Amino acid sequence: MPWKGVKDPYKIWLSEIMLQQTRVEQGMGYYIRFIKAFPTVQKLAQAPENQVFKLWEGLGYYSRCRNLIETAKKVSVEMGGSFPDSREGLLSLKGVGPYTASAIGSFAFGLPLAVLDGNVMRVLSRVFGIREPIDQPSVKKKMEEMASCLLDEKNPAAYNQAIMDFGAVVCKPQQPDCISCSFRKKCFANLHGMQAALPVKSKKIKSKERYVYYLVLEHGEKQLVRKRTGNDIWKGLYEFVWMEKDEPQELDFLQNLSSWGLPSKRIKKQIIDVSEEIMHQLTHQKIRCQFIHIKIDQPVHLEGYTWHTKNAILQFPFPRLLTRYLGW
Ligand code: SF4
Repeated sequence: MPWKGVKDPYKIWLSEIMLQQTRVEQGMGYYIRFIKAFPTVQKLAQAPENQVFKLWEGLGYYSRCRNLIETAKKVSVEMGGSFPDSREGLLSLKGVGPYTASAIGSFAFGLPLAVLDGNVMRVLSRVFGIREPIDQPSVKKKMEEMASCLLDEKNPAAYNQAIMDFGAVVCKPQQPDCISCSFRKKCFANLHGMQAALPVKSKKIKSKERYVYYLVLEHGEKQLVRKRTGNDIWKGLYEFVWMEKDEPQELDFLQNLSSWGLPSKRIKKQIIDVSEEIMHQLTHQKIRCQFIHIKIDQPVHLEGYTWHTKNAILQFPFPRLLTRYLGW
């Protein structure tokens, strides 16, 4: 992994933000492209927002990208381009929580801060037999204290890297390699045959279902799009004409321009495509989406939306759900 052993806090921060809720294999290409486009935090801070979002396109969890931009500007402008070298300073950055602060603090500055990610929690809960849900704040706090006690304060970076790698390679979620593990004679989970049962997690929060419809409206070489604002998903990204309903909608309704708040009289339309329902799973939301692609013979006005050529639209960042439909 290109960020391993690196001491530059900018690169460590970038890799850690990118890998939150993302597999290493998926994040790697994005990290390489980001470092190439923005080799320093100043370059990232100066970049147009659309360019940053465009490079992030497809990685998901776009609030991370918004936080990334905000933090880059803060470090670049308010902190003279240097990341803070204390836990408190790191925690003051948007999008940096205890885990990321410990990773940057220990890897970049050698601070005695123990990391506690999913791999480390799994190792601790199995070795020490923690049978309470690890996603409960009180249990997490207990584990943080435990991780701090175990930390090799003289070599925090090596210790942190080692325990995370141990969790990823030996004490894996499925089929941990207990036979060759050096903890096998003391590990609670191994002694009690509880590897599959630990760590314990609380019941999953039920996903909320949302019925989302997109109208890809085309006139000549142009399409109608807007940049999302507000505090909903995908803020800062672009989209076609959006409609959300509490339940599935009939095709007749979706193909009628007035259903979208558009004038329909004296406008000739041609239905280009009606997609199947597309399921898109987010952390706590299941999006059930359908696209209606319609060509019209004259431009119309819709509050908040603007006509752009397809070439211009290709430069805008879109949620993965839309790029998948469009085949970009
Ligand atoms: S003995 Fe097995 S469960 Fe225990 S720490 Fe080692 S790999 Fe993990």
